[in-house]
Amino acid sequence: MKFMKRVGFIGLGLMGSGMSMNLLRAGFPLTVWNRTRSKMRPLLEAGAEGAGSPREVAERSDVVIDIVTDSPDVEEVLLGPNGVVHGAKPGTIVIDMSTISPAVTRRIAEELGKEGVRMLDAPVSGGDTGARNGTLSIMVGGDPETFEECLPLFQAMGKTITHVGGHGMGQTVKLCNQILVGLNMLAVAEALIFASKAGVDLERALAAVSGGAAGSWQLTNNGAKLLRGDLEPGFKVKDYLKDLRLIMEAATEMKLPLLGTSVVQQMYRSLDAEGLRQKGTQAVIRAVEEIARAKLLR
Ligand code: NAP
Repeated sequence: MKFMKRVGFIGLGLMGSGMSMNLLRAGFPLTVWNRTRSKMRPLLEAGAEGAGSPREVAERSDVVIDIVTDSPDVEEVLLGPNGVVHGAKPGTIVIDMSTISPAVTRRIAEELGKEGVRMLDAPVSGGDTGARNGTLSIMVGGDPETFEECLPLFQAMGKTITHVGGHGMGQTVKLCNQILVGLNMLAVAEALIFASKAGVDLERALAAVSGGAAGSWQLTNNGAKLLRGDLEPGFKVKDYLKDLRLIMEAATEMKLPLLGTSVVQQMYRSLDAEGLRQKGTQAVIRAVEEIARAKLLR
């Protein structure tokens, strides 16, 4: 089989743990590394090899996937002193699946290219559940031949896999996704506080609207969490604030006003001020409750 390449995986957080497990289940020989070493245990128990650094991952892999937090983190694991670039050979493919800056992505692709290393940006959508179930949407930037070569890997992790353009374009489309996510999450929170204040049974309200024209992933997944009073993260407030920053930086560069997204950004900033950075994005209900002087669950 053409693509039984050795795969390396860096970053076993909420997303990376499920994604790497699916690669292992699909039969890819896998080497993993995580900064906090204890998070490697489930993968090692399932049959992955462990490495001591990103550089060592690259030495043992034909394709290296990373999913860490922000642009400087990706730069560190790929280009830093113990980074992938120092262990990679010409022809190695690096796939960054984190959500980071499109401009930084293009710079990293250029740096790696000088060493003959090819790069794809392939950020994802679908949350930690999508990561575990292998149903992610994956938006990919980079050259089309490298994309085709990596398709079997993407298929092990996701369902909707789209090549959207050159380097950085995957990240740009992911930021479009994050505009949709935030406005949608705010709409879910406002609709639910409205229903609560009016005294409607919230479970029934959710069931009634979920299948109609307003149905959405946010409503089904995060709406249901809110009705259980569950603010634990699938996707953390601190990471969404990072995405909002990336959106606004790109919009500023384009002189593009984004009114709705600005409101969303201020709401999430108020969550930060409340000390809710580590909670899930559904915690926007706290800001909505504050403004409404009302509680969702009574
Ligand atoms: P997470 O649970 O906080 O995991 C972050 C991972 O990155 C951890 O493995 C962490 O290592 C590692 N990391 C961060 N900075 C690092 C550095 N400087 N050097 C080495 N490792 C570093 O976050 P997540 O939810 O999996 O998100 C990861 C990425 O996916 C983010 O870019 C996020 O925006 C994106 N994303 C998340 C979701 C979601 O629903 N969660 C959905 C789509 C996209 P430690 O374990 O040592 O901290």
